[in-house]
Amino acid sequence: MEVYNFGAGPATMPKQVIQQIRKDLPSYQGSGMSIMEISHRSKIFEEIIGTAEKDLRELLKIPNNYQVLFFQGGCTQQFTAAPLNLGKKYHRIALLDSGHWATRAGIEARLVGMDVDVLASSKESNYTKLPIIKKKPADTYDYLHITTNNTIEGTAYSKLPDVGKLTLVGDMSSNFLGQQYNINDFGEVMAGAQKNLGIAGLTIVIVRNDLLSNNENLPSMLDYQVFAKNKSMFNTPPVFAIYVAGLVLKWVKSQGGLVEMEKRNQTKSNLLYDFLDHSELFTAPVIKSDRSLTNVVFITGNQKVDQDLISQAASKGLLNIKGHRLVGGMRASLYNSMPLTGVERLVDFLEKFEKNQRGRS
Ligand SMILES: *Cc1c(COP(=O)(O)O)cnc(C)c1O
Repeated sequence: MEVYNFGAGPATMPKQVIQQIRKDLPSYQGSGMSIMEISHRSKIFEEIIGTAEKDLRELLKIPNNYQVLFFQGGCTQQFTAAPLNLGKKYHRIALLDSGHWATRAGIEARLVGMDVDVLASSKESNYTKLPIIKKKPADTYDYLHITTNNTIEGTAYSKLPDVGKLTLVGDMSSNFLGQQYNINDFGEVMAGAQKNLGIAGLTIVIVRNDLLSNNENLPSMLDYQVFAKNKSMFNTPPVFAIYVAGLVLKWVKSQGGLVEMEKRNQTKSNLLYDFLDHSELFTAPVIKSDRSLTNVVFITGNQKVDQDLISQAASKGLLNIKGHRLVGGMRASLYNSMPLTGVERLVDFLEKFEKNQRGRS
């Protein structure tokens, strides 16, 4: 049975990439060694990480005055690293509370001594829309943390808020490479790889040179300057995850880059939202203007029906559509590697399920 994985992360990957990994595994490019066995200081790996950076720069049009850093520790570790590196003048950061991951970022920043001001929150509306800044924020923040796509709640900024001169730090984990942004609008972008760039174990940080710290007291493993100086090889980098990211980047390029990825994600999510909006059983709770292209949240309002739906879907090869435990209901993640056919199959299934429900009541 053909299987479609709608999980939020670790998430589905391009079939071609999995096949390439399989082919490369016993002996990478005739070296007689697996990619897992070669030194990160070898020519082979230097080529892999160098090409990955080059392709990423090309795809995201990253300006030359930005560093591309390869970290471990997940995006969560960057909730600690960003304030340590960037929060050096005011020790004060601003936050847009758009849901779970934004809240987490605030908690971690406070743990390293930052004052965190929530400029706006959409908690009162259960995060079914994005928080709106009512007045121009003060300049006395080191930066404003924003979650460009809220993986759990299913909202996304298609247009960034106007924050004046304030430096924007974007957690782009779940729409990285899936939606176009201008890197110049950010002082820093952080993204875990396991949603749209490959496998867990790698986190990308893109940071503007003038924001690199000269603080010698920072722990080396969290210091952007140390990683920049050592080309992300201060210690052993996650070689396999970087190799996989390189393959995914090549795949994105071969498919037509970010313009094409965003177009496809728009088409896929439109198809699903359109069905949900016309359904009598399902509701997509997020307001239209703020809907995510990559994480589509929907509910029936009846937990038993939801559970029934989720298990029936799984038996048809439509996997992991259970919503996050914090919000319940269902969530279909439609990252770059989810083909349109997968979404068509899902909509088809939901349609039939709804008809059967009607038959019952
Ligand atoms: C998944 C996710 C995270 C957490 O990433 P880890 O790599 O598990 O630390 C943070 N922010 C967003 C928006 C995410 O989707």
